[in-house]
Amino acid sequence: MSPADLQRVRAAIRDVPDFPKPGIVFKDITPVLSDGPLFNLVVGWFAEAARAQRPDKIVGIDARGFIFGGAVAHELGVGFVPVRKKGKLPFRCEAIAYALEYGEASVEMHVDALHRGERVVLIDDLLATGGTAAAAVQLIKAVGGELAEVLFLVELTFLSGRGALGSTPARALIEY
Ligand code: AMP
Repeated sequence: MSPADLQRVRAAIRDVPDFPKPGIVFKDITPVLSDGPLFNLVVGWFAEAARAQRPDKIVGIDARGFIFGGAVAHELGVGFVPVRKKGKLPFRCEAIAYALEYGEASVEMHVDALHRGERVVLIDDLLATGGTAAAAVQLIKAVGGELAEVLFLVELTFLSGRGALGSTPARALIEY
């Protein structure tokens, strides 16, 4: 992506202070989604990065990871697999619980979502503390997938989420 286009995407991401709770600055990416050329640029960046890994499937994280992940899977002509918050998937699931700032959360994937040895690229909108992405990485491994790379639109570097991802390769288009 050209520096000018990158700047256009960065400028469209909106800071919403104190959402969903006091002290959190929420990075609102909906202005990127609602602008056709910007959405096209961002999906194009994800698709190019994912294609280089020759994935068999794209895995997207609930919920904004579905928007980019679905578009990228379509672009590459490969399957899409959702990682969902607990209780949403209807069939038998693997589940991984992880710590949040306050309390605990759990994410799930269908046990038959990946064939053993399938190469996977994992997509989400934003890397914060890395807890969610690390749980998704564990799910991919638990159902037999081989994770090639994790891609994010935004990385909040001051939260050191890459630490939670260990040696898993990860890239973000925009860093704060
Ligand atoms: P974490 O597990 O802390 O890396 O949080 C990542 C998930 O929470 C991602 O799915 C994000 O969509 C969401 N998230 C966390 N912090 C923010 C933030 N400051 N702005 C927007 N989304 C966030």
